[in-house]
Amino acid sequence: MDEALRPALQQRRDQSLYRQRHVLEGPQSPCLSLDGREVLNFCSNDYLGLANHPDIVDALKRGADRYGVGAGASHLINGHSRAHHALEEELADFLGRPRALLFSTGYMANLGVVTALTGRGDRVLEDRLNHASLIDAGLLSRAQMQRYQHADVTSLENRLSQPHDGRRLIVTDAVFSMDGDLAPLPALADIAQRHQAWLMVDDAHGLGVLGENGRGSLEHFQLDPGAVPILMGTLGKAFGSFGAFVAGSEPLIETLIQQARSYIYTTAMPPAVAEATRASLALVHSGNGRREKLIALIDQFRRGAKQLGLALMPSRTPIQPLLIGDTKRAVTLSETLLKQHQIMVSAIRPPTVPEGGARLRITFCANHDETQVNQLLDALDQSR
Ligand SMILES: *Cc1c(COP(=O)(O)O)cnc(C)c1O
Repeated sequence: MDEALRPALQQRRDQSLYRQRHVLEGPQSPCLSLDGREVLNFCSNDYLGLANHPDIVDALKRGADRYGVGAGASHLINGHSRAHHALEEELADFLGRPRALLFSTGYMANLGVVTALTGRGDRVLEDRLNHASLIDAGLLSRAQMQRYQHADVTSLENRLSQPHDGRRLIVTDAVFSMDGDLAPLPALADIAQRHQAWLMVDDAHGLGVLGENGRGSLEHFQLDPGAVPILMGTLGKAFGSFGAFVAGSEPLIETLIQQARSYIYTTAMPPAVAEATRASLALVHSGNGRREKLIALIDQFRRGAKQLGLALMPSRTPIQPLLIGDTKRAVTLSETLLKQHQIMVSAIRPPTVPEGGARLRITFCANHDETQVNQLLDALDQSR
């Protein structure tokens, strides 16, 4: 087996596509202890800086004291604790929806929803730049999968205009994870309604960050829940915790409980993690200061990058990619930033992004400060 595997690994190395892990010695934060040295971090998804917040750490400890560590079973056997249940109710409340259902990860939530709602004879319509978990979900569903041009309402509508008898599910990221731009949600909601298709939105990167109260992309666009009947969110990004959920109507959630295989056939997340997430939801709720700080940092970066003539992308979110194009060059730049400037920014390469679309994916956290953003800008200037 090893002999069969080696050539493909070598080929990846030759093409600068080899992926490697760094070892983190402490918590996620703007300053990291990484492989034994201090670095300035611009690549986490901990947008609000909650991953190491004392309230959340305390809630985790208290949760462990009350519930122990392992849930011990799936939700449908006897792993569904009071902590999980309370978190589901609080998430539903926060988002103004009848119900919410916890999943162990966002990847599993997406697989579960799409496969529970569609099958042979149905159609799943996906934005080309959707997250890998949504693409995999569409393939696993056995429905006919059609990918429309990125954020292109006309391209979607052309596909919807073809006659079809089965169910049609439109699926999109709300904030695209490698580009940072927003899906045209009001137009998508309108199209879904006109064509009687169902709309599912993955708000992994909008939740907690966008909208006046952190309710995410729907709040940003002032869309009411009815416009997007299936809302998925993750808890490992702005929430600084772990896990994911789907929020929607009573029949939707009951259908997922009965039929989503990635919900049914897996151990429930540790209840203490649900307790920690309840504390983070309270902080997200009252987190206007953090959101304002984040916006100020993003503005500062964009102004500075523009002055330097860097190739910014049209993003207003904490995801601020710099398009490089060539894969080797993006990797070299990322290495230079780390080795010479102690700044960590990840290079994103194909197949995560299209061929020729390699980039530095810079992300901001409310715990960054102005000086650190200036350090990043100086380092980018000197590394060109
Ligand atoms: C991170 C992410 C996921 C997966 O969530 P996990 O909880 O990390 O598995 C799903 N969708 C999008 C858009 C994401 O960015």
